[in-house]
Amino acid sequence: MNSSPAVLYIVVPCYNECEVFPTTAAELTKLVASLSEEGKISEKSRILFVDDGSKDNTWELIDAEYRKNKYICGLKLAGNVGHQNALFAGLMAAKDLCDISVSIDADLQDDTQAIPQMIDKYYEGCDIVYGVRSGRKTDSFFKRTTAQGFYKFMKGMGVKTVYNHADFRLMSARAMAQLGNYEERNMFLRGIVPLIGYKTDCVYYERKERLAGESKYPLKKMLSFAFDGITSFSIKPITLISAVGILIIVVSIIAAIYSLISYFCGNTTPGWTSLILSIWFLGGVQLVSIGLIGQYIGKIYVESKHRPRYNPEIFLSDETRAEETK
Ligand code: UDP
Ligand code: MG
Repeated sequence: MNSSPAVLYIVVPCYNECEVFPTTAAELTKLVASLSEEGKISEKSRILFVDDGSKDNTWELIDAEYRKNKYICGLKLAGNVGHQNALFAGLMAAKDLCDISVSIDADLQDDTQAIPQMIDKYYEGCDIVYGVRSGRKTDSFFKRTTAQGFYKFMKGMGVKTVYNHADFRLMSARAMAQLGNYEERNMFLRGIVPLIGYKTDCVYYERKERLAGESKYPLKKMLSFAFDGITSFSIKPITLISAVGILIIVVSIIAAIYSLISYFCGNTTPGWTSLILSIWFLGGVQLVSIGLIGQYIGKIYVESKHRPRYNPEIFLSDETRAEETK
């Protein structure tokens, strides 16, 4: 880390956000201006608005603001690609221009006052700082229970996520560079970022209500997002097929014993025993076979993502020794 203040890029994905844009731009500008005056961040710090193919005049507002406010930058995507992809696009555009990025939603539900704390943690040596909600008081009962159920379910499926953390986080340039090595199409950043490694920490804040406009995550999108999260990180659902198959075979053995006993007691219709046995047994064999094929497909799926196997942080080699003793 160099001693001059870090260049910060705040990345804000926007989809039909013309109602909140003026307030958001003003508030973030105030924050960046004051932080750079304090000398906490470089004066080259910027706020990058990513227009995710909005249908309203969000882009015109970004464009106009860019012309009169030196802190504003804009990236327009040609079509709507969804929150995760839009955010990823913004981070990739920013990664070579800054030392740290903070991603935040356009509706400012996340507390901008947590950003200075995140920056402090960066100076203390963290590469990733997660914004974590301390409570869910502002959420409806429905959103609260479904969201918390989702985190628990993800954990059960073996996906490592940070509890109660959405996409409000700080990332250093090298963390963003590593993020760029994840080439998958189904972007679920909350699952990928913890895979990067490095020193991380959390900052706690109270999440507010949306400033204006409506949530861009209706139930349908929320469910498909959850489904995406599970299927892009876990092949456990496939393994479940084999488990069910094995269970069915066990049941078929019990059914076999029962049918044989009934047969020998003489209280069965002819043909019933063989029919029942073959139905259960074949069903079990088929499920186990599908499960087995599934295992291979699961492996192919994991391979097809081309995820990096590891993220080398430090390599103490002869070369570094030679450089140090120079
Ligand atoms: N968003 C986006 N593309 C989309 C949907 C949403 O860029 O297709 C942005 C949106 O503008 C906002 C953020 O993603 O900045 C989160 O959306 P929202 O606040 O509606 O979600 P919620 O807070 O209700 O979960
Ligand atoms: Mg929101």
